Amino acid sequence: MSDPRDRQSDAPPLLEVVGLKMQYAVSKAGFGKPQVLRAVDGVSFTLTRGETLSIVGESGCGKSSVARLIMRLEEPTAGRILIHGRRIDHLSARALRPMRRQVQIVFQDPFSSLNPRMKVRDILAEPVRNFRLAAGASAVRRRVADLLAQVRLPASAGERFPHEFSGGQRQRIGIARALAAEPEAIVCDEAVSALDLSVKAQIVNLLQDLQRDLGLALLFISHDLAIVEHITHRVAVMYLGQSVEMADRRTIFGGPRHPYTAALLSAVPIPDPFVKRKRILLSGDVPSPINPPAGCRFHTRCPFVFDRCRTEIPALRQLREGHVAACHLNDLPDQPLARAAEILGEAGRPIEVQS
Ligand code: SF4
Repeated sequence: MSDPRDRQSDAPPLLEVVGLKMQYAVSKAGFGKPQVLRAVDGVSFTLTRGETLSIVGESGCGKSSVARLIMRLEEPTAGRILIHGRRIDHLSARALRPMRRQVQIVFQDPFSSLNPRMKVRDILAEPVRNFRLAAGASAVRRRVADLLAQVRLPASAGERFPHEFSGGQRQRIGIARALAAEPEAIVCDEAVSALDLSVKAQIVNLLQDLQRDLGLALLFISHDLAIVEHITHRVAVMYLGQSVEMADRRTIFGGPRHPYTAALLSAVPIPDPFVKRKRILLSGDVPSPINPPAGCRFHTRCPFVFDRCRTEIPALRQLREGHVAACHLNDLPDQPLARAAEILGEAGRPIEVQS
């Protein structure tokens, strides 16, 4: 899979997120001072035309909040969101409208986002008309027929209602509705998570075909690393609202440099019974984002924790071009780092089992 960033020009990226934060005030029971829940706490990344960037992490790590902020379904507390270098995080709904077309979203549960009283043809025609992408009723009809064909649904699907379709078919309708706006990027927020394995593979293949044919960028938000490994160019790993590692697919899956990434990878099942991964088991639950641990937020669960981790926040540091990680182990020049890197590498790399 070639990396579209290799072909990038000096133009600003399609999508850029800088220091994005989303905080809520959470009331305490009784008369205590409200506390601050940091759902997203300083996340930055770029997305280039034709690229897939996956954001991964356990449930509650803030990855879906990032999606909602980019779509302006939530308002950021701080940070910037730029499309082709133009800030959209502070635009009014009216000024945002033409920009909104460029980035569309597909949700995990398409049923809840499709109007049950509208036929599929009307659901697809709505964005075409709203963004004035076809003039006249027959042009809109042709566009709807094209969209159905693009997601491999028969033309007759347009005459039916959302409840008449299976989960996989409804996800195809969700993708067609996103495509109707002629976007440059689609945010897929756990878009295949609720589907059966075979349907999941079909939808992932469809997304890849659409990316190839239309040059679409995908921001793929998922907790399923097996799917991510199949679809992505780059990976950003989030823990407790923060990005802890980011690199291209090969680097993340072959040589992670953050223990959390390694632990996530070690849990990915391998279909071959003669190959297994060294599993890194994490103890305890994810701490509360209202009161995150001091120092490294991962220190309460990290198998490599040492004194410095409990007091000093590790900076997201560049290890080499395109690879950043926030872990003090990467500052150690000697044995501990070598051993940790070995273990992290083993977690990323499958091990042959003697038969
Ligand atoms: Fe683990 Fe320390 Fe690295 Fe945090 S900084 S991931 S606690 S080794």
